[in-house]
Amino acid sequence: MELTKKNLVFMGAPGAGKGTFSGLLLEQVKLAHISTGDMLRAEKASGSELGKKLAAIMDAGQLVSDELVGEIVESRLSKSDCDTGFILDGYPRTIAQAEMLNKILTKIGKKLDAVVFFDVPDEVVLERLTARMSCSKCGAIFNKLFMKPAKPGICDHCGGELIQRSDDSLETAQGRLKVFHESTQPLIDFYRESGLLMPITELDKAKIFQIMLDGLK
Ligand code: AMP
Repeated sequence: MELTKKNLVFMGAPGAGKGTFSGLLLEQVKLAHISTGDMLRAEKASGSELGKKLAAIMDAGQLVSDELVGEIVESRLSKSDCDTGFILDGYPRTIAQAEMLNKILTKIGKKLDAVVFFDVPDEVVLERLTARMSCSKCGAIFNKLFMKPAKPGICDHCGGELIQRSDDSLETAQGRLKVFHESTQPLIDFYRESGLLMPITELDKAKIFQIMLDGLK
C-alpha cells in the first residue's frame, strides 16, 4: 500500500470493525474521524425534532436519507481539521451517497486516497454486534465475548457506564446486515472500478494496521 494515503473511507457491514480499527489508528495518528453513525446518534440524543425522526429510522435499522447525511458530511468535511486527512467511517453507504461524496470532494478540492473494505462473514458480525457494548460517556467500544472491560459494565478508559446500542438487538442487527448487502455492497464494485478499493479480511487486519500506521505517521 502506498504510504501517503490520508483521505480514507472505511466501509463494511455493521460490526465489521470500522469503529474499533478507527479508534486504534487515531490513538497514534492525527486524522479527523467522521462517523455519520456517531453524528446521527448525537442528534438523536439531543431530543430535537430531527432527532426524534432519526430515532425511528435508526432504531429500525434503516438508512437515513442520502440528502440529510450528505449535508452533514459536506459541512463536516469543510472544517479545517480535515485538511490533514480524514477517515469517513460508515459513509458512503449507497451508490447515490458515493456519487454525492465525489461532488462534495470536487467542490472542496479534495480527493479520496483509499476505500478500506472490512470483509467479515455475516455470522461473525452478528455474533459481535449482539455482544457489543459502548461507553455512554466516551463512545469506546467493548465486547462481552472478545474484548471484555476490566470491570463488567464499566469503561476502562473513562469509568463511564457501558450500554448496548438500541440497534444492536439480534432482530435489528439482522435487518441492518440485510440493508448492508442490498444498499452498500454495490459500492464494492463502484470503488474497485475506480481503483481505490483495499479489501482487508480478519486475518490481515493486524498486518494492514501496521502498514497503515507506518504510512500515515
Ligand atoms: P453506524 O453506527 O455506522 O452503524 O450507524 C448507525 C445508524 O445510523 C445506521 O443503521 C443508519 O440508520 C444511520 N446511518 C449511519 N451512517 C449512515 C449513512 N451513511 N447513510 C444512511 N444512514 C446512516
